[in-house]
This record gives sequence, C-alpha cells and structure tokens, in this order.
Amino acid sequence: MTDAESSAPPNSRDSRRTYELEDLGFNEVPKKWRKFYRHWTGPGDELAPNEILCPVCKVVIRSGREFRPGDKVYCMPCMSRMVVVEGPGGRLEAEVVF
Ligand SMILES: [Zn+2]
Repeated sequence: MTDAESSAPPNSRDSRRTYELEDLGFNEVPKKWRKFYRHWTGPGDELAPNEILCPVCKVVIRSGREFRPGDKVYCMPCMSRMVVVEGPGGRLEAEVVF
C-alpha cells in the first residue's frame, strides 16, 4: 500500500471526518453494536459531529463519520428509522421516518 492509498478513501464524494468509536458501555443492544450508541446525559450534553440524538428514546446514536443532512439513521434501541435534518441554528437533528 502506498501513502496515497492509506490516507483518504479515493472514491468518497465528500471529505467527512471519520471517528474511532469505542464501546461506552451501552448495554441495551448486543455487544457488537454498543459502540454506536451512548446514553444522553441531558441538555448540557454536547453532541459531536458524528452523534445524533434519537428524538424517540433519547439515546445518542454515533457514527464512524460525521453526520450530514439526508443521512439515514437507524436507532436499534427503539427500532426507529430517522433521517438527519438541519434544525434551527444549523444544528443537526434526527427526524423520525414513518
Ligand atoms: Zn431511539
């Protein structure tokens, strides 16, 4: 592998930041999926660009890359399907898809 190959993926359409996820002990889903969720601690809890709050069960869903409007998200704890939208003030929010 050359240096060029080991950096950004060559075919990505945009340059999103990627994130290394770690298991934060969210035990409401099977172990394999735990790193994709964490508990929300309340209104003072700042979400990272790769995190989105599930409006249904108030669990924070985490992604290996930053969220953009239009991204589809699945919340395993409450089995909701959502799409990421830009909320007031430019903050990203999840909107449940029925
Ligand atoms: Zn949920």
